[in-house]
Amino acid sequence: MKYTDNYRLKGLRKKLVETVRSKGIKDERILEAIENIPRHYFIDPEFAEWAYKDTAFPIEAGQTISQPYTVAFQTELLEIQPKDKVLEIGTGSGYQAAVLSYLGAKVYTIERQEKLFYKTTKFLEDIGFGTIRTFHGDGYLGLPIYAPFDKIIVTAGASEIPQELVKQLKPGGIMVIPYGSGDIKDMVKLIRLDDDNVQIEKHGKFSFVPFVKGVNKDK
Ligand code: SAH
Repeated sequence: MKYTDNYRLKGLRKKLVETVRSKGIKDERILEAIENIPRHYFIDPEFAEWAYKDTAFPIEAGQTISQPYTVAFQTELLEIQPKDKVLEIGTGSGYQAAVLSYLGAKVYTIERQEKLFYKTTKFLEDIGFGTIRTFHGDGYLGLPIYAPFDKIIVTAGASEIPQELVKQLKPGGIMVIPYGSGDIKDMVKLIRLDDDNVQIEKHGKFSFVPFVKGVNKDK
């Protein structure tokens, strides 16, 4: 069996939940997702224990699985309701997508690295998250065919707010995007009020791998 869980790892997961809670996450459904989704499946099995430290960790193609606190924080800002149609930019390991799916969202996720796209698509099916729809493409363009979305989450650090993505939000929809000119980004929550107006809030500083235009087909 490729994916196995055990009591020790479950115990570490409970501790991780307490760490994330102590940093200010209040939504019990998100904490339950962290407790129930084996994060060690999403990284190299040799490093299983590392999955339960509250840190980002390297995955393939020079990318990272986001820090659990950051995943919880971005998810909380999205105010997910069951059945929300959510677009994620930056599939990476698939962990953030799995958390959104656990909360009952209909998840669409785009990854620019072809290798990671294939690997994560199969992996999500293997661990029971096959309803997540994965796409290989450039997240700057979003998924116009499937728009509009209730929520959009960008999991790479942006130096501009893609207007294509704003257009793909429903009125009243929320986009959470780490945004800024330097390496450290402001966690921006953008609410599309109506066709022409958005409201912008900033929620602290975070660092992310860069949001890069275009696709990468390296195998
Ligand atoms: N959500 C992921 C975090 C992965 S790191 C997780 O939970 O593991 C961010 C990811 O964004 C990387 O995999 C990177 O390749 C991807 N990315 C960067 N720019 C992108 C773009 N323009 N379109 C789609 N994905 C992009």
